[in-house]
Amino acid sequence: MEEKYNVIIVGAGTAGLMLARELGKFRVKTLVLDRKKDLLNFSFNTLGSFINLDQFGLTRNVVAQDIDTICFHSKRVKSKLKTNLFVLDKKKVHEELIESIDTNYVTFLTHTNITNLKKNETGKVIAITDKKGKEFYADIFVDASGTAGVLSKKVGLINKKTELATGVEYNVKYKGKVTELHLLMGKDYQGGYGWIFPLKDKRAIIGFGTFDEKIVKDLKSRLHQILELSSIKKIVTKDNDIIEGGSIPITPVLDKFIHYNLVCVGDSVSQVNPIVGEGYKFIFEAAIMASKAIHKTIANKNLKHLHDYETEWKKRFLLNYQRSKRTQTKFFKYSQNNILMDYILFISKFFIPKKRAVNSLSGEYGLESK
Ligand SMILES: Cc1cc2nc3c(=O)[nH]c(=O)nc-3n(C[C@H](O)[C@H](O)[C@H](O)COP(=O)(O)OP(=O)(O)OC[C@H]3O[C@@H](n4cnc5c(N)ncnc54)[C@H](O)[C@@H]3O)c2cc1C
Repeated sequence: MEEKYNVIIVGAGTAGLMLARELGKFRVKTLVLDRKKDLLNFSFNTLGSFINLDQFGLTRNVVAQDIDTICFHSKRVKSKLKTNLFVLDKKKVHEELIESIDTNYVTFLTHTNITNLKKNETGKVIAITDKKGKEFYADIFVDASGTAGVLSKKVGLINKKTELATGVEYNVKYKGKVTELHLLMGKDYQGGYGWIFPLKDKRAIIGFGTFDEKIVKDLKSRLHQILELSSIKKIVTKDNDIIEGGSIPITPVLDKFIHYNLVCVGDSVSQVNPIVGEGYKFIFEAAIMASKAIHKTIANKNLKHLHDYETEWKKRFLLNYQRSKRTQTKFFKYSQNNILMDYILFISKFFIPKKRAVNSLSGEYGLESK
């Protein structure tokens, strides 16, 4: 007889780990499955984030670099915005999360690739299965499998073919100011934008991501072209060929994350912020909301409480995300035109109040919707 858990989480990434930690605190018997062998092996290693570390129980150990200024670069205009944020070390964030998970209640099983689910006649999920056909049983299932959306796609919460923005990065030599993070905009960034995240020891990450699927197939050569721009050469020098990167979902804003006893968190239901692609802060919040709803559901033996998570998410994020999405769509269009981008940057330098600019950028667009 298979062991039955209260909750099975598919995916031990950003969302899955935070959710596992919170469920452990509630003493919920949880199994976390991941297809990876090594949970700390990533396709990219640094993150820009406006996160409040204390809010999520993280220490300063996860900070790769403190930032006090964002420099925006278009073809001819440079504009600076004073604000505090972090460049985070992804591996350290995940290490801290794993260490803080109560293993009396939470069990990990790696190298387990989930491929399917079994529903009963009412639509309720009764089991999930891995590639080898092994079945796993629980009262509640969670899809935290990121852009794979292995369960969320099966039940139709998200389209099977998800729109993705894809980015590539190099770790390079850095000649700029260590507390200045750069955002690069305009035609050279072909339907997206670039970023330079400073690190310690005169290193930085330079990346370029696009929303334009046509560009994705030769992203690496496009990044090479960017590295040859004279404005970029002044700040960074490429000295190795190790390329990193990945994809984030850019679907229309969703607000349904539950199907009977299946709860979806993170990129599996496109919870990354539409405007800057910041996932951590928002996905952590969503995972905490989901953990409370799951705990209440188990305590009251009533699945209706799972919907508290959707209700809370909508209250906190829906307006924010809808506004961010509209801006992202405009940005995609305008970013292909250098003159327009120069103009926008010039105008925003003088006419957008600092607080509003920071709120928009940090994804707290509609603060009034909190
Ligand atoms: C290039 C790039 C740059 C980014 N930069 C930033 C940034 O600067 N700041 C920021 O906050 N966010 C950034 N993000 C976004 C952020 O990384 C994501 O939004 C976030 O990690 C998503 O978390 P998640 O838990 O939903 O998915 P993930 O963290 O991707 O976790 C999904 C997990 O599920 C596992 N999995 C997948 N399929 C299966 C399966 N079938 N069976 C079992 N396990 C499975 C995977 O192995 C993985 O461990 C960036 C993303 C990319 C790609």
